[in-house]
Amino acid sequence: MATVSQNIFLTRKEKQRCVCCGKRIPFGKSFIAETEDHKGTCFACSPFLGYSLLPAGNAAMTRRSKKHSKLCGVVLKWNQRRKRYERKGQFVEEIAIEKARLECENDREARELKNKKAAIVREQKDKVYILNFANAIRNKYPNCPQKREFKIASHACEKHSGRVGRTADAKEFDPQMIDLAVQAHIRHTETNYDEQFGKGKRKTEIRSDVQSKIESVLNKWK
Ligand SMILES: [Zn+2]
Repeated sequence: MATVSQNIFLTRKEKQRCVCCGKRIPFGKSFIAETEDHKGTCFACSPFLGYSLLPAGNAAMTRRSKKHSKLCGVVLKWNQRRKRYERKGQFVEEIAIEKARLECENDREARELKNKKAAIVREQKDKVYILNFANAIRNKYPNCPQKREFKIASHACEKHSGRVGRTADAKEFDPQMIDLAVQAHIRHTETNYDEQFGKGKRKTEIRSDVQSKIESVLNKWK
């Protein structure tokens, strides 16, 4: 039977109350409910009393311990900076964690090999992406100095690492994205932009100072 999942919020509300025992749930403590706006219970009144916490971070353990547990209580904490809830871990039965640990020990080598293979595939995709992006830059800026398109493309690839569209064909690259990458490169390599910081000038000021220089280089490269 599939495991039933429930949310456990480390509540960011001050006045949450347990519907079972009526006790107040202090800020940052476990509140078991569908959302923080729903009615819910404290940890002591929840079915997770006696369960064990598996911290987040190990995908195989997370998946497997959930599979072996009757209930799974997903611990969520609000991240104010990112404006979203993040998984801190999950409460599952202790025996489920033990079973998961055994399974992970048994196929550790196979999983490591799989991860290694996936890393190689990712690396290959990165190379294709850089090559295609470099070609797109060269097409748009045919007078750009030799090999510079690769420098710009690999930098852009690092920045966009993990995003979708990484295997895009040269034709599919957004012209605006190409322009932005080339402009950023020129800003840092062909102008005194970086040297101007720390001298009391504001970033917007420095940016507008070097803009005409950037445009003149862009026109030469076109
Ligand atoms: Zn309670």
